[in-house]
Order: sequence, then C-alpha cells, then structure tokens
Amino acid sequence: MTPAIVILLLGTSMSSNKLQDLYEEYRSTYPRPEPVETEFCEEVESLLDSEGLKSETYEMQIRRLHERCEQKIEAGLVAKAIGCSLSYARRFSYSNERGAFQKEWSKSTQNEKVSPGARTKIINRDGKTCLRCGLGDERELEVHHILPVSQGGTNEDSNLATLCSHCHEAAHDGSKTSGKTAYVEGNFYEWTQKAEIAPEERDLPLDTGQKRISDY
Ligand SMILES: [Zn+2]
Repeated sequence: MTPAIVILLLGTSMSSNKLQDLYEEYRSTYPRPEPVETEFCEEVESLLDSEGLKSETYEMQIRRLHERCEQKIEAGLVAKAIGCSLSYARRFSYSNERGAFQKEWSKSTQNEKVSPGARTKIINRDGKTCLRCGLGDERELEVHHILPVSQGGTNEDSNLATLCSHCHEAAHDGSKTSGKTAYVEGNFYEWTQKAEIAPEERDLPLDTGQKRISDY
C-alpha cells in the first residue's frame, strides 16, 4: 500500500462516526437487527475504553454515548451497551441545545423492584444472614442494591446483597430512599467487614412489622 492510500484511509475513518452510522441503521430497521445491536455495543465498549471512561460512572458513560451519536439513543440500547438498568437509561435525553442531559427525576422512573423469587435466591446465596452484622433472622433480611438503582444499578445477582433492615439503612447512609451509599463504589464488601454492631447487642423488635425509629 502506498503512503498516499494509507493517509486517505486514515482520513476516512477519522471523519466518519461509526457509532452514529450504526445507530441510524439500528433504528431504521424493524424488528431491531441483532447483529447491528451487537456491533453497536462493541463500538461503545471500545469508545469508552479508548477514552478511559470504563471506570467512570454510568452517568458519564451515558452522556458520552448520546453526545457521540449527537442524538437521543433508545433507552433499551443504552442499557445494553452500558450495562446499567433500563430505568436509569430512561433518565437521559439529548437535544442540540443542551447536549446530553438528565430528565426530571421522578420516583416512578427509578423503580427496579427485586422479585420475590430473586429475593429468596439472593438470601439463600448469602447463607440467610446479613452480610454485615451476621444477623440470621429471616424476617429482618432485605435485599440491597450494591450500586443503587438511582445510580444505574441493576437487579443482576452480582449487584444484590443480603442485609438486615438495620444494616440496609446504614448502607444507604441513614435513609434507604436517599440513593446514597455509606461506602464508595466498589467497596461494598470491604464496608460490610467494618460492622461495629454485633446482632446480639442490638434490641430486636418482637414485631417486625413495626417501624423502628430509635434504631438509626
Ligand atoms: Zn445487619
């Protein structure tokens, strides 16, 4: 190959936006073509990789994806390409004026309920005990999203963990609905090792249906 052709080829690949082209192809076809979807996801992977965004938050990755494509990408495809939950992907939009942005946050869009079957499975996997304090009272056990739903966390097994009601609240830094965590991303299991309260030292309520306010 002559140097002139090499330069020409380089120029072509740099000016075209493969991700954008793939998305155009994807959304203009019904039913959605699976090979294009796969290629799109691979392209996103390499884009994030080349820009050092793989370890960044879902938010940054989603914004970059919309901006690279210069349009709003279907939430289903965003969720697949990024690996976040569908409800989280739905929170983002794109406009020429604003670029990628987050839509109004509403409680209804963050719903990512753990099914009763999944709940049982996770609790059994974790030995029917709270991973933080070791409490084994099944009535007290809850399933926690390690990366909160509000930050794009999914219902995949790897993102779920068994905690008692008390530790669940602690994991969310005092409020289960806050969307915050008491640990930094990736440090959940380390955090569970730092439990200061042994279960026997706590006063457990006799009626678990009763709201306990004095605990936290
Ligand atoms: Zn606990």
